Amino acid sequence: MIVVLKQNPDPVKLEKLSSQLRDMGLTLHFSQGVHTSLIGLVGDTSKVDMEMLGANELVETVKRVSEPYKAANRKFHPQDTVVNVNGCKIGEGFFSVIAGPCSVETEEQIIEVAQAVKKSGAKFLRGGAFKPRTSPYAFQGLHDEGIRLLLKAKAVTHMPIVTELMSLGHLDLFSDVDIIQVGARNMQNFEMLKELGHSNKPILLKRGLANTIEELLMSAEYIMAGGNSNVILCERGVRTFETATRNTMDISAVPLLKQLSHLPVVVDPSHATGIPWMVKPLSKAALAAGADGVMIEVHNNPSKALCDGAQSLTPLQFAQVMAALRPMAEFEGKIL
Ligand code: PEP
Ligand code: MN
Repeated sequence: MIVVLKQNPDPVKLEKLSSQLRDMGLTLHFSQGVHTSLIGLVGDTSKVDMEMLGANELVETVKRVSEPYKAANRKFHPQDTVVNVNGCKIGEGFFSVIAGPCSVETEEQIIEVAQAVKKSGAKFLRGGAFKPRTSPYAFQGLHDEGIRLLLKAKAVTHMPIVTELMSLGHLDLFSDVDIIQVGARNMQNFEMLKELGHSNKPILLKRGLANTIEELLMSAEYIMAGGNSNVILCERGVRTFETATRNTMDISAVPLLKQLSHLPVVVDPSHATGIPWMVKPLSKAALAAGADGVMIEVHNNPSKALCDGAQSLTPLQFAQVMAALRPMAEFEGKIL
């Protein structure tokens, strides 16, 4: 981190600032130019509050030269993290497909979809029990009953289940859930992230609607700082000026996240586009870009779905996506 000082800093105040920085365990390197003087801060600067430092009367600007995240950073952890749920892995050469309806609706629905997606090669079952809906009048999910039905589908199919946590008050209901999803709207719910850091469950962390790659990694850092390193990052599209798709899928996020972090990365082309026929080409794009998997919405009767039917694939369309991915996965040396 580099601190650019204002001209002619008061020596007493400068000594006070320097000792504050040294007390944080940092080593200081001073550099005096003709017009500008700098302090180079060496050490773990992840805990330095840049805004507070920038507000010091001697300081002109503060610049980071290294990333503010440590636990999620590949520089400090070069090997890929592999999330392993009873032998079902995300990472380590697997291209893991998570599939299922947007929301759990009935026992027949979730079991029918679970059996169908499993038959086509999905490894994880998704389904929302608590749904973040824009309208308070829209279907909000079956709540605890939804989790109970997901667990039934798990008992029948032996697929690990992924479902979204919307409030820490519901955490007790998630004790048998395999992967807890933190949705886009909660990506920066820092109290939730901190609490999940104390959990031993894998967390599927979705990118927020308008969040940068660095913000996503800082949210992962919140979870990891608490001791939970089982985090899966999910690119699900971001808001842009474009209205032709529900969001704009940021495919460049995949290689970038893989480069910056050791965490597995999955892509959700269903929420990224909102358009079912785009799920196949964008799942292929995710595989080609180096993702560790995709999450796809599948419903046994999309036109009657209580949530996101318009973007959901039928089981047959899902089977066609899997068939298209299979030769590509083989070519890329990935296990589908
Ligand atoms: C979902 O996966 O069901 C969902 C609500 O996604 P997102 O948080 O990405 O909008
Ligand atoms: Mn959905």
